[in-house]
Amino acid sequence: MAPRLDLDGRCIQPLKICIIGAGGFIGSHLCEALLWNTEHSIIAVDIFCDKIQHLLSPGEEWSNRIDFFMINIKHDPQTEKLIKISDVVINLAAICTPADYNTRPLDTIYSNFIDALPVVGFCRDYKKRLIHFSTCEVYGKTIGSFLPKNDPLRQHPNFYVLKEDESPCIFGSIDKQRWSYGCAKQLLERLVYAEGAENDLKFTIVRPFNWIGPRMDFIPGVDGPSHAVPRVLACFSMALMKEEPLKLVDGGKAQRTFCYIKDAIDAVLRIIENPDRANMRIFNVGNPMNEASVKELAEIMTDVYCKISGKSKPNMTTVDISSKEFYGEGYEDSDRRIPDMKLVTTELEWQPTTSLHDLLEFTLVYQHKTYSQAVRECISKKLST
Ligand code: NAD
Ligand code: UDP
Repeated sequence: MAPRLDLDGRCIQPLKICIIGAGGFIGSHLCEALLWNTEHSIIAVDIFCDKIQHLLSPGEEWSNRIDFFMINIKHDPQTEKLIKISDVVINLAAICTPADYNTRPLDTIYSNFIDALPVVGFCRDYKKRLIHFSTCEVYGKTIGSFLPKNDPLRQHPNFYVLKEDESPCIFGSIDKQRWSYGCAKQLLERLVYAEGAENDLKFTIVRPFNWIGPRMDFIPGVDGPSHAVPRVLACFSMALMKEEPLKLVDGGKAQRTFCYIKDAIDAVLRIIENPDRANMRIFNVGNPMNEASVKELAEIMTDVYCKISGKSKPNMTTVDISSKEFYGEGYEDSDRRIPDMKLVTTELEWQPTTSLHDLLEFTLVYQHKTYSQAVRECISKKLST
């Protein structure tokens, strides 16, 4: 492999990277990119390893560069030892499915704040660089969402574009427990920032904006609990495979920007390998060109899935459902999420390239190949009982 250079033309030295939450969606793609495209080695920590199993079998060219530790960071003393022997720590561990925020608010707050505290403390004490995964949800609602519906200012970027150094974090009232996640993430960001300011912790905070791709979440009843509710990609994929209408929460009017996981991982690699540019910073990582309402997302996914699977488009593709019925009491939504891109483009020279249509096609090909047979078997099992 030719020597890899950082953005300032310097040779990149191999690092030992401790990835906590390595077995999840983002973790699995990050591990692949690090093992296949770099010389860094990985200490992979998670409670599960199904999504990185293909990277853990012995005899591969990269096998001596990854060690997996089945550890729950909540109570395992090994966490400290693993951080101590690493050069960089990346913390991805979290409960991060919206269906949990209002129904399991304590688990959500513990997972996203309390459980992450020792990791921050060990990084501070052992002088390790920390790359912490936060969320675009720390922004909460846009300022524009408080203006009257037809106010022209709603169309002005100042009222909806989310800027790392300027935008406020706007959450709903405490009984709207949806915000337990964004609020816990925000407090952790503030703590990491304060450790940087007062104790010289070297940190980068990443705010992902709806990264999407293969291995995201699970299909209920196939590789996850049948009554659990994953994020929208898996909900819609499952409905498409079952040939059921896609459920639009509160009419599907919320807007999101979707970023292909492989584009996003390129930004994470730049963060890892360019500490001088990334330290003491918070980065939005998303794709503002890929904005769609959830209703539009449902329409595009239906068209793409019909093309991939060869099925004809059903008469009724979507059905409206209230957020109370779908998520239960205490749900409230982020209205719109457009990342300001100035920092990632100037500091990391990064731009996402995959269009919404392409990323949905790549992802739905994977979903169809991985799950459609199992979904069919689940349906016929149910019918025969
Ligand atoms: P994920 O659920 O697929 O991955 C999280 C991983 O952390 C899981 O494998 C889980 O088993 C592990 N984990 C959780 N608690 C743990 C513990 N106590 N000990 C050890 N491992 C533990 O989620 P993801 O989509 O890969 O997200 C990773 C991070 O990025 C999270 O912090 C999330 O809040 C943030 N994020 C992701 C997105 C996105 O678009 N995917 C958006 C916003 C924020
Ligand atoms: N959503 C929906 N139908 C579903 C699942 C989700 O309409 O079956 C909506 C949800 O209310 C939100 C958006 O899709 O407005 C994105 O939800 P996701 O779970 O992916 O996470 P979020 O972007 O809110 O963090």
